[in-house]
Amino acid sequence: MKDVTIIGGGISGLTAGIYAQLSGLQSEIYERHTIVGGQCTSWTRNGFHIDNCVHWMTGTNPKTELYQLWTDVGVLGNGQELLKHDYFLQVNIDGVKAHVWRDLNKMQDELLAIAPEDAKEIRSFIKAIKDFQAISIPALKPNEQMNFWDKIKMLSMIKALPVARKYGTMSIDDYIKRFKNHTIKALISNYLPKQYYVLATFFMYAMFTTGNADLPLGGSDMITNRMRDTYLSLGGEIHCRKKANKFVIENQRVTKVEFEDGSATETKNVICTTDPSVSFALLGETYMDAIFRKCYADKKSYPIFSEVNVYFSVETSIAHLPIMELFNCEPFEIANKTHSVLCMNNYADEPNFAPEGKGLMQILVVQYEEDYEYWNNLYTTDKEAYKQAKTALAKEIQSRLEKHYPELQGKLTEIECVTPKSFNRFTGAYKGSYMGFVQTPHVEKMTHTGIIDGLNNFHLAGQWLLTPGGLPNALITGRWAVQRLLQRENRLHDFCCKKK
Ligand SMILES: Cc1cc2nc3c(=O)[nH]c(=O)nc-3n(C[C@H](O)[C@H](O)[C@H](O)COP(=O)(O)OP(=O)(O)OC[C@H]3O[C@@H](n4cnc5c(N)ncnc54)[C@H](O)[C@@H]3O)c2cc1C
Repeated sequence: MKDVTIIGGGISGLTAGIYAQLSGLQSEIYERHTIVGGQCTSWTRNGFHIDNCVHWMTGTNPKTELYQLWTDVGVLGNGQELLKHDYFLQVNIDGVKAHVWRDLNKMQDELLAIAPEDAKEIRSFIKAIKDFQAISIPALKPNEQMNFWDKIKMLSMIKALPVARKYGTMSIDDYIKRFKNHTIKALISNYLPKQYYVLATFFMYAMFTTGNADLPLGGSDMITNRMRDTYLSLGGEIHCRKKANKFVIENQRVTKVEFEDGSATETKNVICTTDPSVSFALLGETYMDAIFRKCYADKKSYPIFSEVNVYFSVETSIAHLPIMELFNCEPFEIANKTHSVLCMNNYADEPNFAPEGKGLMQILVVQYEEDYEYWNNLYTTDKEAYKQAKTALAKEIQSRLEKHYPELQGKLTEIECVTPKSFNRFTGAYKGSYMGFVQTPHVEKMTHTGIIDGLNNFHLAGQWLLTPGGLPNALITGRWAVQRLLQRENRLHDFCCKKK
């Protein structure tokens, strides 16, 4: 019997496995899918590489704690190249273009030139991002394991506090009311769902402008493969096509994990990194604690979001197009809701994503819980209708792309359409959500220890434990689960000691 049984082989499960092995704990990962990586995934379609995850990755600045974690798990360092773009996003509303430039002074100048009527708010916006540049996510230890000096270190973030206080109770939607210009409103509001507190936008742009959210060359495939290889090289074992069905609990311990194929494994400790809706189904609903009950029940305060992603191959190179562009278009409908903005991701910088001389683009449309219900209903009641709805949507999008990029007329072919139902089908993601709960203003930030009352050898990990989820929180919670497990066994001193 291994020391730790890890359920779920996403970023959090792989991280937990790597730190377990580094700490001298023998571990194994059970994953329901045919491959590990979870939501950080990619595949091939018609000779093109579909990257269905990373657009930005926090923790690429070597001065940060997160960077240390990414190097521990093998993703960064060792010559891994980063794609360092001058800008993160181009917004194009009725032909007026604005950018999130890496150089914030350049961004301020551009925004002031576009919207002199918003000069005062533009200056405050840029200042807020600059003040948020002081933030560096504490990633090395969970809060309860921090000592006095660890807490003192956090004082370096004090510059961000006044901004956090001033705007902490404001949603993105409320914040953009301060601006008159539509391009600026779109720049601030159209990337993240509008219910997010606006601090999320400041944070995101602050991370990009400090070189702490660049894209690793090779994308999601590289991230997952490097983590898998690191884990295996440390002696970890991975079992794919192993869907956990039930945790057997005796005397406040999970003693056995039963799988869908009828097999079972005895356990000493469990780190469960599946979506929490799956974790609590495996444990039994009575184990769901007040924190998660509140989040699932209060959907207005804790909404979720997802995406439809449509991929198009392009007969020619699209290196001349922006790396990411958000533009307005003729309205179209998904699930009786009107959309009039598209976000295009261009993979021209990735040498291996498209055959030589060809292009690949991804179109993103944000979806919410009610949209998930639409896709889920279609899928469960009529798979043909589900397929047709995807094809029809791709056609609508293609015609808008051809209008916006007239030079691409007749050169686009839809090669993949992914819906919120796809995320749910392949990883069990709650309502197709690929991040944790949206951080709305006025509600407490989600910070869950992963420890469940009444279970002595069981830990949750995964992006849902820390708002707003995403790759860094999957990584952090995987590490912290191992630290907490060791602390409970009074052997925290073993953490990562094999590494030394
Ligand atoms: C389209 C898209 C774009 C994204 N873009 C970004 C981005 O740019 N930056 C960023 O930081 N994050 C991004 N994310 C989010 C990021 O992918 C996730 O935050 C992260 O991968 C979550 O990792 P996790 O390990 O917590 O969970 P998961 O990836 O959900 O891993 C859970 C694992 O458990 C497995 N599992 C579930 N049930 C069982 C069971 N019963 N038995 C065994 N195994 C089971 C699942 O198959 C899965 O492998 C994006 C995600 C998507 C889908």
